[in-house]
Amino acid sequence: MSASILEKIREVRHQISLFEKLYTRPAGSVMLLAVSKTRPYKSIIDAVECGQRAFGENYAQEALEKILALTDYDLEWHFIGPIQSNKTKTLAENFDWVHSIDRSKIARRLSEQRPSHLPPLKILIQVNLDAETSKAGVALSDLEKLANEVKGLNNIELAGLMAIPIPGKGVESQRASFHLLAQARDKLLKQGFESCQHLSMGMSSDYEAAIAEGSTIVRIGTDIFGPRN
Ligand SMILES: *Cc1c(COP(=O)(O)O)cnc(C)c1O
Repeated sequence: MSASILEKIREVRHQISLFEKLYTRPAGSVMLLAVSKTRPYKSIIDAVECGQRAFGENYAQEALEKILALTDYDLEWHFIGPIQSNKTKTLAENFDWVHSIDRSKIARRLSEQRPSHLPPLKILIQVNLDAETSKAGVALSDLEKLANEVKGLNNIELAGLMAIPIPGKGVESQRASFHLLAQARDKLLKQGFESCQHLSMGMSSDYEAAIAEGSTIVRIGTDIFGPRN
């Protein structure tokens, strides 16, 4: 096994539990999603051997090949990349979670294409917190509308919100962005979207701030597998 992946994954887990303590979050309330996009099978298997089960992928075709090659392991697959509508069937049939929902058409297709023998697909709505940029995600002002459109769909469950804020400098400015997402989630919970519990926020460079603001899923690539090419 690659010593470096073992060491890095231990270090990330250690940091997560320190941040849980530091910011008075319950122990174990933050899930580690290992972002394995562009990484070879070998690296994923190394991570599995360190007890990692949940993996995040950005490209449907690359992910499908990995999922099919790794069926011997009991893994949980999260799709976190931009979604093309001709890829929804692949996602509906092979993933457990999709974090990057930003339009109702995609949600409808995922619900229609989710096989009936599988549990509902857990979806997160991606919110664009930096409205002036052309990034993916719905504007905060359109979030409630999309949440309502998703609500009636049978084979998917609104499990929370996701965001990729512009990287802020320093924990305090990073916290300000993540705080907006946490507030939006709290508002949806108050409005009766009971299943909307999760906050998928925090990457290698900003997961301390995300955990401080209530993240329940941190998406970590570089700090586990090293720099991407
Ligand atoms: C690549 C990626 C990550 C992981 O980023 P790192 O900085 O390598 O930890 C997390 N989330 C999304 C949506 C990504 O595309």
